[in-house]
Amino acid sequence: MITLHDLYEQDGQGAVREAVVAFGARHLVRSGDPDAGTDWKWAERHFTCLIETIMGAAVPPPPGSGKPVVRRAENAAVGFLLAVSSQPDYRCPVCVKQQARQTR
Ligand SMILES: [Zn+2]
Repeated sequence: MITLHDLYEQDGQGAVREAVVAFGARHLVRSGDPDAGTDWKWAERHFTCLIETIMGAAVPPPPGSGKPVVRRAENAAVGFLLAVSSQPDYRCPVCVKQQARQTR
């Protein structure tokens, strides 16, 4: 499965790169230090989770064509990042879901 790092490395244009950085910025190291930067392991985990969620929602493919589903889910996840990266106050949907679960 594709990772944020792969996307960052692959993109020469800049739009995907910016979207990756914007997604990363939603996952800052929780040390209390505002300059600690992005927790990339956390961001990667949530990006994977996003792809898996999209894949889980996809119509099951006909037998023998499993791979394109992953590819399509990855593309959809990248499309999502690109679509929301211009929104300054968007939140990672995986974070939102987890926070909703913690709220009692
Ligand atoms: Zn998240």
